[in-house]
Amino acid sequence: MPEFRLYNTLTRRVEPFAPADGHTVRMYTCGPTVYNPAHLGNFRTFLFEDLLRRTFRLAGWGVEQVMNLTDVDDKIIRKAQATGQQILQVTEPFTALFHQDRRYLRIEDAERYPKATEHIPEMIALVERLVANGVAYVADDGSIYFAIDKFADYGKLSQLDKREVRSGARVAQDDYAKENAQDFALWKAAKPEDEATGAAWDSPWGRGRPGWHLECSAMAMKYLGETFDLHAGGIDLIFPHHEDEIAQSEAATGVQFARCWCHGEFLLTDGAKMAKRVGNVSNVVGMREAGISGTAYRHFVFSAHYRKQLNLGEDSLEQSRAAVNRVGAFARRLAQATGGTEALAAAATSAERAFLDALFDDLNAPEAMAALFTFITDANRELDAGGADTAALARARAAFRLMDGVLDLVPEQEVEDGLAAWVEERIAARRAARERRDWAAADAARDELTARGILIEDGPDGTRWRKG
Ligand code: AMP
Ligand code: ZN
Repeated sequence: MPEFRLYNTLTRRVEPFAPADGHTVRMYTCGPTVYNPAHLGNFRTFLFEDLLRRTFRLAGWGVEQVMNLTDVDDKIIRKAQATGQQILQVTEPFTALFHQDRRYLRIEDAERYPKATEHIPEMIALVERLVANGVAYVADDGSIYFAIDKFADYGKLSQLDKREVRSGARVAQDDYAKENAQDFALWKAAKPEDEATGAAWDSPWGRGRPGWHLECSAMAMKYLGETFDLHAGGIDLIFPHHEDEIAQSEAATGVQFARCWCHGEFLLTDGAKMAKRVGNVSNVVGMREAGISGTAYRHFVFSAHYRKQLNLGEDSLEQSRAAVNRVGAFARRLAQATGGTEALAAAATSAERAFLDALFDDLNAPEAMAALFTFITDANRELDAGGADTAALARARAAFRLMDGVLDLVPEQEVEDGLAAWVEERIAARRAARERRDWAAADAARDELTARGILIEDGPDGTRWRKG
């Protein structure tokens, strides 16, 4: 096995990585704020973390992953207030949707999904520790702030210059720019809208609610210990979220919080930060409705290194759909084959080696995927040649299992069979028929769809379809 190496944002270097106990990687990944559907950008980050955990297992380690669900924050409260709901009514359906979407993308279950609102006592205890240590103080509005000048290491993750740190100045909102590194809120005194939406709890400092950063420190330490192996998230979380997590945690415990920090780059849509929709697709539900397999999105995400920006263009998912169909066809062929050649075994061994080398070298997914596709080309050629070597075939199957066990690219049968492409083609034929006012042809196209159980719905932005 090659040595496992990973880029650590804390040191700005690619370094050898292994779990502290040699057995289980204890990792914390910041999860979604559940007040709307997670977009494809969010899922790029969650897929990067899925790849991390699967690669850890390939290295022979167990994984203990905790992903929090942020179910109380400024945005959730605002939405609850606007719709006259309690925060729980806002967050419950989006929590369910998150899990549904994640399964569609075959993102493995984390070991735990703790919710912020279910860990208020742990958060209060952490604030009490910080107050006792003299690094947190009560402001005149009854909120508790973290005094960043009392923590010498403040800024070490985001490499803030000491001069940029403005102690004494306070920032109440959860998200703020690096230019105003200020004392941040640990606990916010309750406002009327917090009380009205069920977002206020009793505390030693009166009614209030936690700041955003606090939940991750409290839940990470509860489930993974004061020091754990790895903390990951999207690149936008480095500052202030992760910087503040480090400050709160290390100022409370006096020991290192996460040993390694990993950040995934952003998904862009045609150069801009993930916009609402690309073509027909803005999120996983849109993808599902368009008949695009979750595996196509996995392929697309893994086509770029996680530390590089990735652009979702109009035809990105189409290309990935074709690629995973190739993987699916190969999987079927390999399953049905009865023997192979010596060269097939050799191709399997070299693909496996290239695959491991790539992933263990700072999670180089595009190279790992290239190893898989090279293998598919080589193996198809060898299977064409025939051969009766069952050991070689077993070798090829094992190599494919190893690679696909991480990438997970074999699409579901129906998508693989080209159903989606066929449906899109029939919808286009119907549209063309309607445009030339050939109602009989349009109805015939619709009937063909209905006959295969496809329901279509005409809307302002085109025709959508789903399986009935
Ligand atoms: P949020 O629900 O906003 O807390 O975000 C959940 C995760 O998605 C975080 O790790 C973010 O860093 C990440 N994220 C947000 N936008 C993008 C994007 N456009 N591309 C990749 N990751 C993103
Ligand atoms: Zn977090």
